[in-house]
Amino acid sequence: MTDLHPFIAGLPKAELHVHHVGSASPRIVAELAARHADSKVPTDPEALADYFTFTDFAHFIDVYLSVVDLIRTPEDVRLLTFEIARDMARQNIRYAELTVTPFSSTSRGIPELGFMEAIEDARKSAEAEFGVVLRWCFDIPGEAGLPAAEETARLALDLRPEGLIAFGLGGPEIGVPRPQFKPYFDRAIAAGLHSVPHAGETTGPETIWDALRELGAERIGHGTSAVQDPELLAYLAEHRIPLEVCPTSNIATRAVLDLDEHPIKAMVAAGVLVTVNSDDPPMFGTDLNQEYGVAARLLGLDERDLADLAKNGVEASFLDTDGKKRLTAEIDAYTAQWLAR
Ligand SMILES: [Zn+2]
Repeated sequence: MTDLHPFIAGLPKAELHVHHVGSASPRIVAELAARHADSKVPTDPEALADYFTFTDFAHFIDVYLSVVDLIRTPEDVRLLTFEIARDMARQNIRYAELTVTPFSSTSRGIPELGFMEAIEDARKSAEAEFGVVLRWCFDIPGEAGLPAAEETARLALDLRPEGLIAFGLGGPEIGVPRPQFKPYFDRAIAAGLHSVPHAGETTGPETIWDALRELGAERIGHGTSAVQDPELLAYLAEHRIPLEVCPTSNIATRAVLDLDEHPIKAMVAAGVLVTVNSDDPPMFGTDLNQEYGVAARLLGLDERDLADLAKNGVEASFLDTDGKKRLTAEIDAYTAQWLAR
């Protein structure tokens, strides 16, 4: 079998499911931890690797929140965001819808306007410097409940930064029923934002139905358990509702126990529009290129198939028609050139 990684590395890609703080590379986390000396997060990259080894999903949330706690000033936010775009550019990610949880920062005392200015400044600088186009999905941290939902909706709709296009819901699913968030999604959708909740990662297919019926989901974050419900798979396929699949994340959080048994195969077989994403890449010791490699192995993909997978990401994105055409053309041109060598 040919080594597909050089092809994947140069392939223009869209990333649709990746978290802001969860994209903090060990170097940046170490830098922030050193800057905020009272943090329990280790400051050397090797110890960080151990720190980022999770026993279960709850442990992952704990670690994640301890990194959230390192983002304390607008300058921390700007630096983090800009650095994430640099990492994306290195992987030839051309467009990303980055999930940002403003509540986590504003509730820790970062001024809300300073926060918005920081992400917008980083977005514009990153596009100018790296050619990476960033858009925001503001998500409700589910574990913080309805007050967090109210605050996230307020920040999204009242302050509405230019790059904001979507409204989401993250955090744990167990004990956090989706329907309670319906009023907030209704408001966001009425204001023109897209609905992209996480669902069916650590709970069953009924959570995905809830996300579709109650939250107006246009894409599903993870949706891993969809494969337990043939009717749901058929519905997703028929309505072209994409799944944001993050294979390595699913293993790290134990949402899936064995990578070789990952439900991505069943999703594709059912005709569902599958996109591949990295979720919290440095925390899971991965990046988008590695996830494409995993998908290629699990699904038996060649270069053309990988180009199709990248095009799924474009199709499932909230880019406008011209933006989609341009990025699709880039993928086709790159692939044709590669295969002609
Ligand atoms: Zn996620």
